[in-house]
Amino acid sequence: MEFETVIGLEVHAELSTQSKIYCTCSTAFGASENTHICPVCTGMPGVLPALNKSVVEYCVKAGLALNCKINQYSRQDRKHYFYPDLPKAFQTSQYDLPLCYDGYLDIDVPEGDPLDGKAQKSTYRKRFGITRIHIEEDAGKLLHGAGSTRIDYNRCGVPLIEIVTEPDFRTAGEVHAFLTMLRSILIYAGVSNCRMEEGSMRCDVNLSLRPGPDAPFGTRTETKNIASMSATVRAIEYERKRQKKVLEKGGVITQDTMRWDDERGLNYAMRSKEDAHDYFYFPEPDIMPIEVDDEWLGRIKASLPELPNARRERYMADYGLPAYDAGFLTGERALAEYFDDAVAAGAPPKSASNWLMSDFARLTNEHSLTWDALPLSPEDLAKCIALVESGKISRTSGSKILDAVFSGDTRTPDELVAALGLAQVSDEGAIRAMCEEVVANNPKPVADFKAGKEKALTSLVGQVMKASKGKANPALVNKLLRELLA
Ligand SMILES: [Zn+2]
Repeated sequence: MEFETVIGLEVHAELSTQSKIYCTCSTAFGASENTHICPVCTGMPGVLPALNKSVVEYCVKAGLALNCKINQYSRQDRKHYFYPDLPKAFQTSQYDLPLCYDGYLDIDVPEGDPLDGKAQKSTYRKRFGITRIHIEEDAGKLLHGAGSTRIDYNRCGVPLIEIVTEPDFRTAGEVHAFLTMLRSILIYAGVSNCRMEEGSMRCDVNLSLRPGPDAPFGTRTETKNIASMSATVRAIEYERKRQKKVLEKGGVITQDTMRWDDERGLNYAMRSKEDAHDYFYFPEPDIMPIEVDDEWLGRIKASLPELPNARRERYMADYGLPAYDAGFLTGERALAEYFDDAVAAGAPPKSASNWLMSDFARLTNEHSLTWDALPLSPEDLAKCIALVESGKISRTSGSKILDAVFSGDTRTPDELVAALGLAQVSDEGAIRAMCEEVVANNPKPVADFKAGKEKALTSLVGQVMKASKGKANPALVNKLLRELLA
């Protein structure tokens, strides 16, 4: 039987604020256990929370970047559940008045398997609805050891936004493309660092099957807290096949909460799903309603940087870059800014793009570097490109300069050209002498060329390059040989 897959997402992103949502404790990642805690974030009796204003700003920023409407009057609610990672026994969240609602993202979704590593796939454009974005607090972390469990409350009270989408996804590829763009936008907007490996972005997947696009939705399961893009794709494929098998045998899907085990490549049910009434939501009495007036909203709007889609369009329109280049360059804010700075320093846009997509992509991978921590300044990249395009050094020598700099050499491109002896010989007299010698010593290719065999010239150029130890300017060698043989 064929089924249509229906997927909705709930994405949690930790906000990059300095302090927690209701206290002044640090949100820094990686501190030793229970060192960033206080009576407020550990839920001691008698304490009062004070809402961090930046949390509201960051959430509104995310909402604007994701084309949402903003509730200028909203409030927080208590969501009750008992689990040891949440010392208050309720989570302060938002229920019926989220800060942002009714948004969308337009995505160019690549066809085919998102994990096959093949670039430059054909794409189709699709709009994915965003139901709501609300603020809430993160919980602590349980550390299970042999025979004991410890609790680390450092993450407790770290501000989160939860982004809830419409059930608009039909394939794992669409989810992958959406999460990639979402992550890029949240990083651009400075809202979250979205480091899935540190848990600062997590994805819950709601998935159901139905017999066809017009059939009512089937019963869905929710797979919680998936910790990487590729794991999300694998978890979706696994759950889709599992439900298909159950339905084909005439079974029913129960509305379970699942956990994905990426190492073993399977999921299992954790508990049957709660409905909203199980949480006994009620308005948080200790926090005033949140009012975002026009003036504040205007300031938040003005603080948004140019987002990846707009930037991508600009690169294509202003620089004539192909869509593939523009997509690559705008994938990460730090990379796009580096590219802009290199162009501002005089690099031709298409050349800068080529260098970034080839050498830089290879070297950042080899040296495990992120785009915001490159050892070569954008000005020096512009300099390298100018050295090559003016014929002072070869393109291969350009790569050698980058290799040296990425391996820790702190000399400037000009110093490296001198130190590594990379300068091409463009002295016409010297090269003409070498050409004459090669012509005199190679009668066979010379005769072949004169008889009309164009290819014979290649071997003569090679001889001259060899004689010059690779430093002769190949364009000049070509020109001089043709003159001599004319
Ligand atoms: Zn605290």
